[in-house]
This record gives sequence, structure tokens and C-alpha cells, in this order.
Amino acid sequence: MNASQNNNNTAVARVKLLIGGEAIESQSHEWHDIINPATQQVLAQVPFATVREVDAAVSAAQQAFAAWRETPIGARMRIMLRFQALIREHSKRIAAVLSAEQGKTLADAEGDIFRGLEVVEHACSIGTLQMGEFAENVASGVDTYTLRQPLGVCAGITPFNFPAMIPLWMFPMAITCGNTFVLKPSEQDPLSTMLLVELAVEAGVPAGVLNVVHGGKEVVDALCTHKDIKAISFVGSTAVGTHVYNLAGQHGKRVQAMMGAKNHAVVLPDAHREQTLNALVGAGFGAAGQRCMATSVVVLVGAARQWLPDLKALAQQLKVNAGHEPGTDIGPVISRKARQRIVELIDSGVEDGATLELDGRDISVPGYEQGNFIGPTLFSGVTTDMRIYTQEIFGPVLLVLEVDTLDQAIALVNANPFGNGVGLFTQSGAAARKFQSEIDVGQVGINIPIPVPVPFFSFTGSRGSKLGDLGPYGKQVVQFYTQTKTVTSRWFDDESVNHGVNTTINLR
Ligand code: NAD
Repeated sequence: MNASQNNNNTAVARVKLLIGGEAIESQSHEWHDIINPATQQVLAQVPFATVREVDAAVSAAQQAFAAWRETPIGARMRIMLRFQALIREHSKRIAAVLSAEQGKTLADAEGDIFRGLEVVEHACSIGTLQMGEFAENVASGVDTYTLRQPLGVCAGITPFNFPAMIPLWMFPMAITCGNTFVLKPSEQDPLSTMLLVELAVEAGVPAGVLNVVHGGKEVVDALCTHKDIKAISFVGSTAVGTHVYNLAGQHGKRVQAMMGAKNHAVVLPDAHREQTLNALVGAGFGAAGQRCMATSVVVLVGAARQWLPDLKALAQQLKVNAGHEPGTDIGPVISRKARQRIVELIDSGVEDGATLELDGRDISVPGYEQGNFIGPTLFSGVTTDMRIYTQEIFGPVLLVLEVDTLDQAIALVNANPFGNGVGLFTQSGAAARKFQSEIDVGQVGINIPIPVPVPFFSFTGSRGSKLGDLGPYGKQVVQFYTQTKTVTSRWFDDESVNHGVNTTINLR
């Protein structure tokens, strides 16, 4: 970054593009402020790159691919080993920047980085992950084997809510598989992402192997339609993800789109009461409800209905404050626009007849009166036709619904348009087994509120939460970022018997 002047004549850093190993100031006329959501302080400005700059980034990636794909897998892996060490070393510094630009608490910011770091660590095992298969003697003297080869230039488009973890879901595995990459971070909080990119360069990622362009729809569309891009990883809302999936798909690219959510927690009356209530409140309101795996709906089954007052009492105790302040449970939401949208949805819940048990709309935080804060908000008496239920709210708003049986709870969850995460709270193994089998949701937690898989598994999703079959990280992403080539070979020695011409397709 370098410094320029904003309207108040104070120095504001300008975020750079990374093209062909060079940090470049964009020639764009469109610059957006990166705003601290607790204070409204302008932290920096981010450019909306020009189409020419997107072309330059893709072209740099295309040029770098020829040498990078030939770089030995061990050499690629060792860069990731250095990268993970650098992330550990700089984790606190990045967390402070992340908390300032995104609003989450410092502990959550460190968690955001750590969950991404785990993927970098996993990329250090690429030697075994990218192995092909071999079958000897599939016909007389014939062997068949597969190669997992990189695709070429890949691109990643990331959301605001995990500016460390989600970029790290993408480029480390993509480049360690031998691809080159163009990353388009969220324009709302790209600073911590850029710190990670700088560390990747310091770790030894060669020029052109990792490139960064900033922007919004125009840049995303340019990536989705670019003739030299082979695959697109997208994480963000369902509306944008569907657009990206369709557009990039029409242009012949592989696409994985991880999208919006409405995550339910189903509570059976035999669940461990204290553990469950703590889990619901932490998963519902932590990170201001802006986790894609946040619990947004609690389904109380049968006698668990009686737990509502305890849930309310616990939620009421949460402390709303700026993310860097000690003891904060709920930081601000990302922007004034996001706050406004959440408040309108809470209004709609009241209009539609839900009972507002806790109302976080009018909260004021001393010392941060300009912050985008919403206090813990709890609705009971919610029905499935209400807008608060059908739409993703993405704020600290928890809805409570009640049903009589586990079957009804399963049917309710499966009828929701989203299928990202779900939790079941029970002490019954039989109920848990039935639930995990019948529920149509990607991530299932049993007495676990936010069941984000560790990197040796893959993140997934159902219905409105995911398009494309292969998910980010784990074994699936190695398939996503590689092309399988199947080789069938026969070698003749001088003593081989000549069978003459064979016009059948059978190998003998
Ligand atoms: P978003 O869809 O608004 O933005 C995501 C990316 O798309 C950003 O880089 C943005 O610049 C770009 N974009 C925005 N509008 C666009 C348009 N019209 N055309 C093309 N590109 C556009 O999402 P967000 O608000 O940044 O993130 C929150 C969303 O992400 C939530 O819906 C959340 O559930 C989802 N999310 C999902 C997962 C998952 O794994 N399923 C993980 C994290 C977040």
C-alpha cells in the first residue's frame, strides 16, 4: 500500500494489485473506502480494477504456469511449509488488522487465521494428496495409471466474513497442485487478505503464480468469462454464487460455488441442557451472526420448548462492543448497509407476527456510537412463511421454532431452501443416527454447534448453499484443481512375439 489523500486531506493507504510479482497501483478511477465498522474510520482505499488490469493478471498467471507446472512437487510443498511458519509468526499482527476492518473480536480474528492456516498445513501433504493410481497388468503386459495434472490459471472470489480463512481455502491448494491463481478478495475487508498474500510471496511463491485483483461485479464477471481461466472457486451469497456458477459455467469453466445459509439447531428434550444452551448462544450470536455456519434457527422439540426463557437469559448477558475491546462477545456488523438490512428484517419479523423476545435494534455502545452494532436479537413464535425465516439474515438474530417430534424437525430443516450446516442436540445415539441419515444438509454437527470440517475432509453443502459437486479443501479440492489423465501403456522387448495387426479394441 502507499498513501494518498482522502477528502479530509488525511493520508489514506491505497491497496495495491499484485500482478506478475509486482505490487501495482491500479489505474482505476473507482476507489472504495475500507471502513472500520466499529468507528467508521477509513482504514484504506481499495481500487475496482479495470478490465485491462484483470487481463494483465490473468496473462501473468498464464505465463507463469509453464514453469510452475514443471516445478517439482516437493519444491511447491516447501513453499507452503515456509508460508505456514510465516502465518504463525505474524498471526497476531494480521488478527489486529482483520478485527479492525471486519469488526470481529481479536479471538475470532485469530480463529479465522488459524482455520486457514490448517489448510496451508494440509497443502504441505500435497505429495501424497496429488498421487495418481496404478494398476499393473490390466491386460497382458499392459499397465494403466492416472496422472493428476494442474489445470492452468484458476481464480478465487471471496466474501467479507472470513478474509483470512476463505482465501486460504483457495490459493494454497490451487497453487500447490501446480496451478497459477488470480484472487479477488472481498472489497469490504481486503487488508488482512493482502497481508497473507505478502507472506505467501515472502515464502517463495514465484512471480505470476499468485496474482490479486480487487473489485466488484465487473471484475468478477471479467474473471468468469476470461478465455484463459480454467476454474473458479466462489464463496459468498447464494444470489451472487448462482450468477457466478451460471456465467462461468457457460464459459466452459469448472466452478465450485459455496453460498448462503440458514443453519438450524434441533434440540431434543434429552439433550445436555447447560452445554446445549451455551452452544446455541455462542453459535447464534458469535461473530455477530456473520459466520456462514452460524446457528440462525433453533428448533425446540417437545418438552425442550421450556428452555426458551433460559436461552433468552443467556443471550441477554452477551456484551456488545468493538471487536478489539476485552470481553466483547458481539462486535459490529460489517457495514451500515448490512446493519440497515438486518434492522429491516427484524422489523419484518415483528410485522409478520413473531414475538420479539430480545430486541437489539436500538443498542448504543459507549465510545463507539457510530458503530454498526446490533444487540442479540431473539424471536420466538416464528413460522416458516416469515421473511426472517426464508431469508438469510447474517446478523446476531436467532429464531426459535417449536415442533412436537424429531420427524417434524427433520422435515422442517429439509424444506428450508438452504443446506449448509445443521446441529442436533441429544443424548440418544439412535436419534442422532436417524438424523444424520435423513437430514439433507452438508455439515452435520451432533452436539457440536458449528461443525466446520478440518482440512483433511472437505467443506460441502446442499441445495441453495452449494453449486458444483466438489467442495473447497480436503481431497475434493485436489480433484477440483486437477485434471485426471489416464495412461495405458505397453512396452515391448526384443523378444516380444509379433501378433500382427489387431483391429479390435480389446487389449490382450
Ligand atoms: P457476496 O455474495 O455479497 O460477495 C462475495 C463476493 O462476490 C465478493 O468478492 C464480492 O465482491 C463479489 N460480488 C458481490 N456482488 C457481486 C455481483 N453482483 N456480481 C459478481 N460478484 C459480486 O457475499 P458477502 O456478503 O461478501 O459474504 C456473505 C455471504 O457469504 C453469506 O451469504 C454467507 O452465507 C456466504 N458464505 C458462505 C460460505 C460457505 O462456505 N457456504 C462461507 C462464507 C460465507
